[in-house]
Amino acid sequence: MTYEENWRHRLHDLQETALYRTLPDEIARQASLVSMPSGRSYLNFSSNDYLGLSGHPALIKAFERGLREGGVGSGASRLVTGTMSAHCRLEESLAEYKGTEAALIFTSGYAAALGTIPAIVGRGDIILMDKLSHACLVDAARLSGAQLRVFPHNDMGKLERLLVWSRKQRKPNSTVLVVTESVFSMDGDTADLIPLVELAESHDAIVLLDEAHATGVIGPRGRGLAAELGLTKRIAIHMGTLSKALGCAGGFIAGSSTLIQLLVNSARSFIYSTAPPPALAVAAQMAIQLVNSQDGEDRRQNLRANIELLEKLLDMPPRSSPTPIVPIILGDEKRALAAAQGMRKSYKLILPAIRYPTVPRCKARLRISLRADHTHADLRQLADGLKPWCISN
Ligand SMILES: *Cc1c(COP(=O)(O)O)cnc(C)c1O
Repeated sequence: MTYEENWRHRLHDLQETALYRTLPDEIARQASLVSMPSGRSYLNFSSNDYLGLSGHPALIKAFERGLREGGVGSGASRLVTGTMSAHCRLEESLAEYKGTEAALIFTSGYAAALGTIPAIVGRGDIILMDKLSHACLVDAARLSGAQLRVFPHNDMGKLERLLVWSRKQRKPNSTVLVVTESVFSMDGDTADLIPLVELAESHDAIVLLDEAHATGVIGPRGRGLAAELGLTKRIAIHMGTLSKALGCAGGFIAGSSTLIQLLVNSARSFIYSTAPPPALAVAAQMAIQLVNSQDGEDRRQNLRANIELLEKLLDMPPRSSPTPIVPIILGDEKRALAAAQGMRKSYKLILPAIRYPTVPRCKARLRISLRADHTHADLRQLADGLKPWCISN
């Protein structure tokens, strides 16, 4: 078999099992309503730009200013000549926002995870991870060489047993790192964070909390779930992304100055990668200012109202924490694809069909992501489109 034949075989296998992925139609700009090249418009329920900040005039202005002042590319890694004022000001703002001593930005949330976990743990250490953690956390854990154990989603009993086990297993001075997310990206529920932090503390383990979907959205001024629960000081490593509710691109870690110094010295995705464009850092700093402002508060208020309305329209059982992510679990991969296509064709709705390996096999789903700028009429249109799928579910 030639290598091209081999590749075609692999693609064919994906098609057979409804796991084949294609890029969606290109759009000129993402918003709550998107226009396709065909000229048709669709309601967008698939973006993580929860507050609609990516198109905010103040953010665009900040980006333009950053571009004029700093140029496009940063030209080098942060440790060479890539450290610019824009990066430093953003890191100061992030640390202040998160209530930590320091912060460090990466080119993406993915790069933040990939650099940070292997900088903190390695061979001889142990990682205990929630089963539903994002792929970047799983990849980072594997890369680190630490022993990885997974606990069922939010199963604190199992986490406790693993912590007891790791106590016996671990060598002196080794690290046990508990990894979880605050808002789970494919299920929209939240971590059982208070018992998790208490368990970690009582077994001498540290916590990494990925707040990708909570940053800007959950907690006071959108500071995240740790801030909402008063746990900031008790979590060693706070992770977040600039690319979701903050409407920009990039990732960050917040924590103690010692942690940040260690990452500057050991996080390979930070050391061996060109610094993010300075304009992006200027824009992200504006995004932090916006989520902190009354404008941000109003947007979160609209988002919360939209979440409540959707829960009502879909007759959903109450959730412990209202988040903008709502999965409609359909099970079969082909069914999820058909639902996404039907939604798009008949109701002009864009909803992604999320399939294996993003979620387990036979747990395929439509994932709704709500935005602050969806109107109530938009939500009614969504509920109408979903009705046939929700009822037969
Ligand atoms: C999106 C996401 C990331 C990655 O962030 P990017 O900035 O998009 O690379 C990390 N963790 C979680 C939970 C995410 O949902």
